Amino acid sequence: MTSASYRFQLGEFELLIVKDGTGGQRPLSDLVDDLPQDLIQHEIFMEGGLMVVDTPEVRFLIDAGNGPHRRPRTHMAEQAFDEEGITPQSIDTILLTHGDPDHISGLLTKEGELVYPNAHYVLNIDLWRALSSDLEAGLVFAGQIEFVHRLADLIQGRSTLLEAEREIWPGVRAIPALGHRAGHTIYRFDSHGSVLFHIGDAAFDPIFLERPELTLPTEYKPKQARSTRAAIARRLTTENALIVGSHFAVSNVGRLKTSDEGHHYHWIQQSPGQSD
Ligand SMILES: [Zn+2]
Repeated sequence: MTSASYRFQLGEFELLIVKDGTGGQRPLSDLVDDLPQDLIQHEIFMEGGLMVVDTPEVRFLIDAGNGPHRRPRTHMAEQAFDEEGITPQSIDTILLTHGDPDHISGLLTKEGELVYPNAHYVLNIDLWRALSSDLEAGLVFAGQIEFVHRLADLIQGRSTLLEAEREIWPGVRAIPALGHRAGHTIYRFDSHGSVLFHIGDAAFDPIFLERPELTLPTEYKPKQARSTRAAIARRLTTENALIVGSHFAVSNVGRLKTSDEGHHYHWIQQSPGQSD
């Protein structure tokens, strides 16, 4: 295992997170207006990570990262997969969280062919609509319309389109978590009672789960995204689930606990073998 990857077990499922890029340290005030006093100096550390989940029968990949289209420093997953022995051909199903460039650019080669030739795709119907016809609908992909339409052409007929929460494979559920971008979706994995949520960009950093009242004005529907985060935080706490975020530091897998004050939460980084 390299420092750019993190491998662990969830019940019978084997999980691997690889680093795709680093956004580095930045002040929270870059992202949030009207910060409460105690967070004005707060800094967050953002990375981009891709997660592979091996169930006994199916290999899932959650999002596809930057791929070869984007700057080299944000395109590290390919090499990490190589080192981990994960070939593009071996991916059975790709679970998409949303359609931002750092999540879907890696689906196509520079020549405009599918990187994962055998994969089936799971995505929210609103994301499908955005990709296939309505670019204004919560998709940040300016100047890359050709890419988006090519992608839609290629995955049409090999995609499951989601309209509501549902189980897509035993132990794997897709859950709409709307607001961040069109059709933003999170995924829940459950093997022998061990539960993990991949929350995509529902929170860029654990602070947004600890403080779900924060609003990010650059989200597609900021108020909806905020109430989605609050609902997710409640569910994560109730289920005592492990949590992975697309932009959390690669090994920052944790749980969310209700704090003593009762209305905020605490993030507890955890090695997944550990029980609480
Ligand atoms: Zn993102």
